[in-house]
Amino acid sequence: MSMPVATYQCTACELSCWDAGTWGYRYYVYGETKLRLRAAMGWCPSCMDLNAVEVLPDASGELLLQRKLQAFQAELDVIIAVTPKKRFWLFQPRKSTRQRCLEGEIESAAESLAEYQLTRTALSARQSQARCLRCGAEGCSVLPPHEVDYVGTDASPVPIAFVHPGCGGQITIACDGMRLNVSLTDKAYDLEGRQVNEIEP
Ligand SMILES: [Zn+2]
Ligand SMILES: [Zn+2]
Repeated sequence: MSMPVATYQCTACELSCWDAGTWGYRYYVYGETKLRLRAAMGWCPSCMDLNAVEVLPDASGELLLQRKLQAFQAELDVIIAVTPKKRFWLFQPRKSTRQRCLEGEIESAAESLAEYQLTRTALSARQSQARCLRCGAEGCSVLPPHEVDYVGTDASPVPIAFVHPGCGGQITIACDGMRLNVSLTDKAYDLEGRQVNEIEP
């Protein structure tokens, strides 16, 4: 599979890194259940490099998912409220495309929220901090939230408000239209974030 790749660079040194490290599906083994492990680009003090790092679930992440679900639900409530009631008809009025779409969004948002809550429960006794997904070291920091524009390939590198530790340069992001061919693998981790095996797709 070929996917567009984003490149992180530093304004003051040769550092250059693709975001491809975050690709693929990672999960925690929790009894018989697989719970999605979230990853994002971050700084690993042990690798002294940008890498994919583990993003542990927390209260604010759960709140975001709750708000998303509530927003879809509120939009659906409005649509239902303005839909004429044809109560004397034998058949229900046809649902609009937007309504069907929203019902799908609500279902998947509710599933995401439930999985997130279960992941928080599963990790509640966890001792270790978020780990680097390359070397397994703790104490990584996730890059601040930033947009990745995979389409605007002519755009110049955009600073993401993160200073290259030990260097002082600004980290920027750019997509130059390059695509990478990757075979995405599933990777399993224990509840402390240690990789336990690798399964070919
Ligand atoms: Zn630098
Ligand atoms: Zn590392």
